[in-house]
Amino acid sequence: MKALIIGGGIAGPAAAMALQQAGIDATVYEARPGGADGVGVFLTLGSNGIDALRTIGADASATAAGFPTPGINMFSATGKPLGQARTSSPDDGDLVSHTLRRADLYRAVRDEALGRGIRIEQGKRLTGAQDTGDGVRAVFADGGEAYGDLLIGCDGLRSTVRTLIDPAAPAPSYAGLIGLGGYTRGVPVDVERGSYTMVFGKHAFFGYALAPSGEVWWFANVPRRDEPARGEVEAAGAEEWRSRLLRLFGDDAGPAVDLIGTSHQIMPAGPIHAMAHVPTWHSGRMIIIGDAAHAPSPTSGQGASLSIEDGVELARCLRDHSAIGTAFAAYEALRRPRVERIVKQAARLNSNKAAGPLARAFRDLLLPTILKKTAGSKQMGETYGHHIDWNAPVPAAG
Ligand SMILES: Cc1cc2nc3c(=O)[nH]c(=O)nc-3n(C[C@H](O)[C@H](O)[C@H](O)COP(=O)(O)OP(=O)(O)OC[C@H]3O[C@@H](n4cnc5c(N)ncnc54)[C@H](O)[C@@H]3O)c2cc1C
Repeated sequence: MKALIIGGGIAGPAAAMALQQAGIDATVYEARPGGADGVGVFLTLGSNGIDALRTIGADASATAAGFPTPGINMFSATGKPLGQARTSSPDDGDLVSHTLRRADLYRAVRDEALGRGIRIEQGKRLTGAQDTGDGVRAVFADGGEAYGDLLIGCDGLRSTVRTLIDPAAPAPSYAGLIGLGGYTRGVPVDVERGSYTMVFGKHAFFGYALAPSGEVWWFANVPRRDEPARGEVEAAGAEEWRSRLLRLFGDDAGPAVDLIGTSHQIMPAGPIHAMAHVPTWHSGRMIIIGDAAHAPSPTSGQGASLSIEDGVELARCLRDHSAIGTAFAAYEALRRPRVERIVKQAARLNSNKAAGPLARAFRDLLLPTILKKTAGSKQMGETYGHHIDWNAPVPAAG
């Protein structure tokens, strides 16, 4: 069996390695000429994502590129502690959630795949695909074609494969927030290494962590009701954003103003989007996984981890079911409840980040109770403690 994988971000190379482990040949086609790295700020690779990479022996280079961040301490704008959340449980041993630059994670999974002899063709933007009855034909913007037995869309939030499978598929929805991040050093922060500090500020949300190098990595989520035009957030530039953020966080307790003011790098990541429910994940010989099928907003800290889990689970399904349709149905039954639950949880948190003055007062009152219930609770355990048993057979969808 030969798989055509569209997209060389995170899900693509992870799926290719898992398929190789299942004895299925795969080639990755990536639109960007230079690969997908160099985009974005930093992200959390959850303990579940690390565990999924470990299933295919690919976790070491990813974790080496980051630092452990097992916990989050949350505060109100006045500096009142709101609660704590743990993204790894004390029983996880060395499976602890890590923070790393997004570009480093891309590079780690891509280099790992290349090292295993997997072909990654760059500058190959998929524009069309047809089921030929006994296979699938992919067509690229450069005029090239490729043939395989199945096609896996790992082409992210703005997936082309999603609309090839279902022309009526919903578009990503804007979460009402703009994402930014930056790096600074030399500002003393009174936090333990390895814990995030997050502040539900008066006008925007701020989070930061102290890296082992002494750098502080921070991110901000700025509420904005109407969706910015494409490129608008980035076009404002780092210095314009620095002064906007300094104004937004000026009234809040905590070091946000110092961290932003001294940053040597500020990166406007852009409007935050999510895909809550994509009704059709597969049709014939084509399927979508990763952000193409179910993008959670960055608030979840789970986008990369779920994409990796997806690749591993799809490979198990294709290993155990020779009929492609049966394998795809088994995959959907396995994945849909889990990923949609996580996407919904992140959407709820986003609405807290974008709260108006009245809602903010309620939120600050209620959050300690909510966090007590969720931190370390069954929900956190289900998200971060998820383990894929590679050797277990996958049942057909019931
Ligand atoms: C600012 C920001 C912060 C984030 N923070 C976190 C976090 O803290 N934790 C977390 O887990 N996740 C986070 N995420 C999300 C995470 O980056 C994504 O969920 C993850 O990258 C999804 O992987 P993917 O492979 O499905 O898609 P992507 O990584 O987006 O990869 C898709 C690839 O497909 C390529 N492509 C697109 N169209 C085509 C085409 N037609 N033909 C060929 N190739 C194509 C793209 O160039 C890209 O390389 C964040 C995202 C952003 C934007």
